[in-house]
Amino acid sequence: KPSNTQNHTDSSHYLKDFLEEMKADKIREHLRKFTQLPHLAGTEQNLKYAEQIMKEWQMFGIDSVEMVPYDVLLSYPNESQPNYISIVDHLGNEVFNTSLAEPVPQGYEDISNIVPPYSAFSAKGQPEGDLVYVNYGRTEDFSQLQREMGINVTGKIVIVRYGKIFRGNKVKNAVLAGAKGIIMFSDPADYWADGIQPYPDGWNLPGRGVQRGNVLNLNGAGDPLTPGYPAKEYTYRFSPEDGVGLPKIPVHPIGFHDAFRLLNNMGGEIPPNNWKGALNVSYRIGPGFTDEFKSQKVRMNIHTNNQVTRIYNVIGKIRGAQEPDRYVILGGHRDAWVFGGIDPMSGAAVVHETVRSAGRLLSTGWRPRRTIIFASWDAEEFGLLGSTEWAEDNARLLQERAVAYINADSAIEGMYTLRVDCTPSLHTLVYDITKQIPSPEEGEEGVSLYKSWHKRDNWTNDRDAPRISKLGSGSDFEAYFIRLGIASGRARYTKNTVRHRYSSYPVYHSVYETFEIVEKFYDPSFKRLQAVAQVRGALIFLLADSQLLPLDVNEYADSLRKYAQSVIVFFCMCSPLQLRIMNDQLMYLERAFIDPLGLPGRPFYRHVIFAPSSHNKYAGESFPGIYDALFDIQNSADPAKAWEEVKRQISIAAFTVHAAAMTLTPPA
Ligand code: GLU
Ligand code: CA
Ligand code: ZN
Ligand code: ZN
Repeated sequence: KPSNTQNHTDSSHYLKDFLEEMKADKIREHLRKFTQLPHLAGTEQNLKYAEQIMKEWQMFGIDSVEMVPYDVLLSYPNESQPNYISIVDHLGNEVFNTSLAEPVPQGYEDISNIVPPYSAFSAKGQPEGDLVYVNYGRTEDFSQLQREMGINVTGKIVIVRYGKIFRGNKVKNAVLAGAKGIIMFSDPADYWADGIQPYPDGWNLPGRGVQRGNVLNLNGAGDPLTPGYPAKEYTYRFSPEDGVGLPKIPVHPIGFHDAFRLLNNMGGEIPPNNWKGALNVSYRIGPGFTDEFKSQKVRMNIHTNNQVTRIYNVIGKIRGAQEPDRYVILGGHRDAWVFGGIDPMSGAAVVHETVRSAGRLLSTGWRPRRTIIFASWDAEEFGLLGSTEWAEDNARLLQERAVAYINADSAIEGMYTLRVDCTPSLHTLVYDITKQIPSPEEGEEGVSLYKSWHKRDNWTNDRDAPRISKLGSGSDFEAYFIRLGIASGRARYTKNTVRHRYSSYPVYHSVYETFEIVEKFYDPSFKRLQAVAQVRGALIFLLADSQLLPLDVNEYADSLRKYAQSVIVFFCMCSPLQLRIMNDQLMYLERAFIDPLGLPGRPFYRHVIFAPSSHNKYAGESFPGIYDALFDIQNSADPAKAWEEVKRQISIAAFTVHAAAMTLTPPA
């Protein structure tokens, strides 16, 4: 079977030089340099790092680098009124308060501007009431609580454990159930690996460590106040009350040391076994405390402010030699909750090394066929804001010219093997590339990354190859893939469990994400980060430099299992114009899956084949329109109407797949 992912012989010695120039020690240096100080979005330090990155990319010798600002809604704790949760007695006295900060790791004691743990964009307020424990706060947890256990959480404060799904979905579920506040905690069952010490002696989350994070439900909107348009100085803004995706109730995160105190005296039923975490408490669901503590209530004290703040993307470019009007993008965020040792700087260090290597190659006379764009996004942690605003700003250019987007968030989340999520048309390219990159694992000298990966994570469904998953969301590729329909992918090093796919590594978003945790535990040789740099780098290199675009339409057809016969197979080396015609068909295949009307109630989720799950932003759902129409249909209030919507969604999917297949037939 002819494959257009193998016709890059003309540039392969450049590819080899490009990949060999990316050095583990350099990645270590970049990581060290950009994790010295906290650099939250909207702070002076994050602007300083942006300026430093801009200056260094210029020195590396790429064609242009610019700083692109936007003014977006961010959220910070009130500096004079701290956020905390209390247990109050019948007189209103606070008998217990949760901690105001995480203990700072050794060596960082004198550092200021460490933002205390908080839930960004929480509503303000001081709700007081009884607690109800709702496991992970998933759709199925709330329906079990309400339908099977008969508990009503209206007017209650719910407490849920972190993990399994995006925290914003937990908050949405709590609001829909009528809760007036929500507390999220890290349970050792989810954030503590057996036989590992807490940081700094190991990579587990200490009892007083806490996961920060935004609790928005943006559904791809970007800045809450300017949906659809770039948040420039002159842009019209909604009033803060009308912002997209803002939660209506107070939200606050705690660690398991404090969670123990809140859960310990809870009364009510003992939940089904699978709701039990690993703390030494009985995990009763409430509502409220057990008999002798019945008069005690829980009070949340939340004073977090939303604030329009300037953010900065850094955009670097290498002009394409033959097709300057075709763009291949490598983008990842720079803003971090604190130091960003893993998230995002392990990824940013990899991008930095990729830019350095590309600059070196340019100086030897190489120039890619197509334009390469490098991006250091801001305010990802506040809802993918920098990347989405830039996508809105440049939507007209991108929809006509963008070939592919490769994301570069955290390059490592475990020590086991490679993890790749991408659009089906990139599968073949990923396999080809990883066969040419060496395994970073000790004792696997001479073994390819492909082989090392295949051995550890075999594709169990339908073929003998390493696993590749569909894209969900929760990082900066979202606007490019799901709103604009640009072929996208991401790759990182991961841990050895598919089960905990969406429950990140233990110290995620805590102050313990330092340079040292990477250097001591995750990747002492920096070879894993080097391997990830080579995968991401080879992807952009081949997408930018191959004559015929290395996108595999058969793979998409296989994935759709439909219209497979109608796609034409490209295999001729012909005139530049004919080549361009074919390349445009390949590039625009992903675009053809975009429905301009978007999914029901989610106008910025426009890809008909893939969307973030409505129940978990981190997970991808295929044929999301049909899936959502069918979801829980047996409990729908008007079954006849619900089935009509299913029929409508099926016809939209059938039309869209057919329309996409038509773009692959000969133009005339
Ligand atoms: N990556 C960030 C998180 O998981 C932001 C995700 C998002 O807002 O989609 O908290
Ligand atoms: Ca906007
Ligand atoms: Zn990140
Ligand atoms: Zn993050």
